[in-house]
Amino acid sequence: MEVLVAREYGFCIGVKKAVELAQKVAEEAGESGRSVWTLGPLIHNRRVVNDLARRGIRTASGLADVPPGDILILPSHGAPPELLAEARAKGVSVRDATCPLVRKVQDAARSLCREGYTVIVVGDPSHTEVRSVVGWASGPVHVVESPEEVGDLTLEGKVAVVSQTTQRPETVRRVVERLREMAMDVRVEPTLCHVTSRRQEEMRELAQKVDVLVVVGGRQSANTKKLVDIGRESGKPVYHVESAQDIDPSWFNKGDTVGVAAGTSTPDWVTEEVVARMEEINENTEAQDKEGKAASPGAGPEEAAEPGAEPAQEAQVIPPLPKAGDTVTGTVVKVSPEEILVDIGYKTEGILPPSELGRRFVSDPSEVVKEGEVIDALIVRIDDEGRPVLSRRRVAEEQAWRRLEEAHREGLTIEAPVTSKVKGGLVADVGTRGFIPASQVGLEYIEDLSGYVGKTLKVKVIEVDRGDRRVILSEKKALEEERERQRQAVLESLEEGEIREGEVKRVTDYGAFVDIGGIDGLLHVSEMSWKRVNDPREVVKEGDRIQVCVLKVDREKERVSLGLKQVGPDPWAEAVKQFPVGSIVEGRVVSVVDFGAFVELTEGVEGLVHISQLAPRRVAHPSEVVEVGDRVRVKVLKVNPKERRISLSIREAEQEMDRRQIKKFLKEARKDSVVTIGDVVGDLLQGANLGGPEKDGEPDKD
Ligand code: SF4
Repeated sequence: MEVLVAREYGFCIGVKKAVELAQKVAEEAGESGRSVWTLGPLIHNRRVVNDLARRGIRTASGLADVPPGDILILPSHGAPPELLAEARAKGVSVRDATCPLVRKVQDAARSLCREGYTVIVVGDPSHTEVRSVVGWASGPVHVVESPEEVGDLTLEGKVAVVSQTTQRPETVRRVVERLREMAMDVRVEPTLCHVTSRRQEEMRELAQKVDVLVVVGGRQSANTKKLVDIGRESGKPVYHVESAQDIDPSWFNKGDTVGVAAGTSTPDWVTEEVVARMEEINENTEAQDKEGKAASPGAGPEEAAEPGAEPAQEAQVIPPLPKAGDTVTGTVVKVSPEEILVDIGYKTEGILPPSELGRRFVSDPSEVVKEGEVIDALIVRIDDEGRPVLSRRRVAEEQAWRRLEEAHREGLTIEAPVTSKVKGGLVADVGTRGFIPASQVGLEYIEDLSGYVGKTLKVKVIEVDRGDRRVILSEKKALEEERERQRQAVLESLEEGEIREGEVKRVTDYGAFVDIGGIDGLLHVSEMSWKRVNDPREVVKEGDRIQVCVLKVDREKERVSLGLKQVGPDPWAEAVKQFPVGSIVEGRVVSVVDFGAFVELTEGVEGLVHISQLAPRRVAHPSEVVEVGDRVRVKVLKVNPKERRISLSIREAEQEMDRRQIKKFLKEARKDSVVTIGDVVGDLLQGANLGGPEKDGEPDKD
């Protein structure tokens, strides 16, 4: 069997927008506590509507169902203007999911009526879209479904035709022709939806190439029904299914080419499930065919008891034969390629066909089941000879569903072996078919998922619907939970003062976030270096692996403060020795403020020269004396390593230097009596303090 899938499937833009809007509104409303309603089903797809219901979106049959204050979402097919006005008057918030193409029909009907036309709407009068269009037309309007209905109309004046977006173009054309035959001057507004027109055209082409057609979509979906009609016109068998579960293997013959098309309100993953199911049927059929050929003719059960044989057995008390649908436990008594015989405590053994051993076809049943093994099986039916026909696959599936439902209910993580990649994600075998949407693989979006096939992922079950046979899995949620677990473990284990290795994840103007094994700590710019740092990017960049010191852990708020400078030696520890009080050292002005200037003595150690210590005169502002970048000589007045403060003085350094110069000169002058001291020293003496011992600097006011 070959499966041909229509090029275009999945949601059309109108449906996609409506579903996304509904999901967004539901999320927002969750925080506000207001209920969200849709006016009728949002789209004509039961599974999507069920999914929205699980998100808390309710379906209203009319505005009367919606209490004031709640939110009402208009469907993609639109709604008449009176309803909008009524909803607003009632205090219901309206969110409009009307498809832009439907709105175009509404607008056309309204403008044509205003221009004096009688409007003919070609469409189904009971369809929501048509009812909304009629509501927007503010003059004479008629709805016809076929050209035959045109004859019943009494028309006068100008006539214009609009159509329901999903109508077939030929129906619209025939209606127009019929009107023209009635000598009407007809204006035609092109309001057909190009998406449905394209799909109808493709359906026609597909029907020519295949033996059987399968159309996927809601039973109420107008555009899906149109695809079914088009398929049937080809004379080929057409099956309308809503999900993979509806597929019956007996529809297909060996060697058939099967065409698959889908309505615009059918999610792509539903179509992919249908295709996957058909491929599964095909694989099993082919494998069974091969095995059938390989088996010797005539092989099979021939164990019918001889009449009258073993009369003693007849005296045994034989329990009543369980009925179809019962689950029984039995012992495997014989394994052959054709069948497995299971003793279920009845005089006739149960027959387990190899195809019912499990989901996957096995060529040699003895690989998966051994004689003497005790197994559970479901009685599918009692055959003509009164033998129970068993299925272990169905029991396994039942168990799988129970496991999945429990995992969903309890939020458990399960293992999911990935079997294939499909358009929207991955397929995994979790006892039944599980789908992992691409958005739920990994923590961040992954472009190419091929590498996942064959791997076993740890996943959460985010949706399970046994009726729809739908299982949606998420690796992302399992990874997020694992990350959170790690984060909590790291948070618990952190101790202030310890050194950890981390990776710089993000750099901002005020610091960097460093991942220290599952939790991001903040490395503030002031904790990056002992020296002044203007921009954190001078010190670290994203991706750097660095050692950091844990400064503070707030377990309640889950915040961690980190330091980088604490990892290296503290220059202040040496400051007392390196810069003793009274010493004169050189430094660089790193900042000038109103009350003085900061001078860097060595990397990470800065001292303050108070404004009063800048010069031997009165200074109005420090910038009169120094500027950033100047190299200056300063005298150390006071060192306080605990508070990381050093008081400096340029004024005293200068005086000190002067004193030293004078002393040196006097020493020179004593050797040479020709020149008097006054001749040489001159003005140097003025202001210099020649008397008394050198004083420690006075405490400044920093
Ligand atoms: S089928 Fe066309 S008209 Fe209808 S919702 Fe989709 S895009 Fe809009």
